[in-house]
Amino acid sequence: HEPEAATTTLLPPAAHPGDACSLVDTPALLLDLDAFEDNLRTMQVLAERHGVALRPHAKAHRCPEVALRQVALGAVGICCQKVSEALPFVAAGLRDIHISNEVVGAAKLRLLAELARRARLTVCVDDAQAAQALSEAMLEHKASIGVLIEIDVGQKRCGVQTPEATVELASMLQSLPGLSFLGVQAYHGGLQHKRSLDQRQKACDKAARLVRRHLDALKLAGIPCSIVTGGGTGTAVFDVASGVYTEIQAGSYAFMDTDYGSIDWGEALAFRHSLFLLGTVMSTPTADRAVLDFGLKSTSTESGAPELLGHDGLRCVAVHDEHCILHAASPSDRPALGQKLRLVPSHCDPTFNLHDSLVAIRGDKVEGVWPISARGLSR
Ligand code: PLP
Ligand code: MN
Repeated sequence: HEPEAATTTLLPPAAHPGDACSLVDTPALLLDLDAFEDNLRTMQVLAERHGVALRPHAKAHRCPEVALRQVALGAVGICCQKVSEALPFVAAGLRDIHISNEVVGAAKLRLLAELARRARLTVCVDDAQAAQALSEAMLEHKASIGVLIEIDVGQKRCGVQTPEATVELASMLQSLPGLSFLGVQAYHGGLQHKRSLDQRQKACDKAARLVRRHLDALKLAGIPCSIVTGGGTGTAVFDVASGVYTEIQAGSYAFMDTDYGSIDWGEALAFRHSLFLLGTVMSTPTADRAVLDFGLKSTSTESGAPELLGHDGLRCVAVHDEHCILHAASPSDRPALGQKLRLVPSHCDPTFNLHDSLVAIRGDKVEGVWPISARGLSR
């Protein structure tokens, strides 16, 4: 008996299109298509209303089926954070991909060049030596790529620090073969989850003023800059109105994890929770405890435990490797053995990366089972 053959023949997919949701095997990651499609439309309409392009970040989901639907609704392309992450998206037919990150090292540059031969690719640069290596890789592999200078607008992550440095790097990029300097990236992750709408607005205004200083310096130097990309779910509403961004990169808006659900939205935008972890109650050892059959191997917890919505007397109190412990306020709140429950993940990006497939549902029916093809592709 071949153990590997047994795995493939005995283990069916977690769900099949047409199945009732009650038949989905657990743990599973569910996507409520009605909520998901509403979210896609909401962000697309916001961007279009301001004449700004939407280039959703695919690092949120790593699932080509999701990206194809975003592009079908009007997104200009997608962002990926890592070079290898882009591979399944190119294979699925996506032809306009921005790598919203610095890429360093020969193996990665070779892969980047190979991708640039197959799709319209742009990438971030914040260093002259890295720009030189990028140019050499493109020449060696007979490829060309668009380059955006990443500006540090206060996140204290990557990015050039001054308008003078932006001008200096941009003029170098203009002269390097295989590269076309197209613009700048200004993303500030630290602002996305600021709770108050007012604080987010003020912080975005400050970041936009900083971007403006870089743009003014480029203009003064006579260097054309046609792309200004950045922004995420929490700041999109301000970024589109800032007058500096030509493109926004939001990713999580399509799913709305509890991390984003807990910030103030006011009248700004309304996204719905579309992503759920489905678990089965596998033990009810006491009157106030139920244990679900998933844990850290199915959900990230660095932003908190997943939450049960609409079950006031029931909350998740601990997440172990393969157990999720629920506390019931009263015995009547405790779910029954075998019952299936939906929980909202606290952070979508790392949670997607733990699953092979996304079970797309509409109402009570499974509509599709979508591979999370870029799962694990972090090189
Ligand atoms: N752009 C960049 C460079 C990011 O790092 C991220 C997320 O961390 C995003 C866009 C998308 O942000 P969000 O998923 O919060 O909308
Ligand atoms: Mn995130």
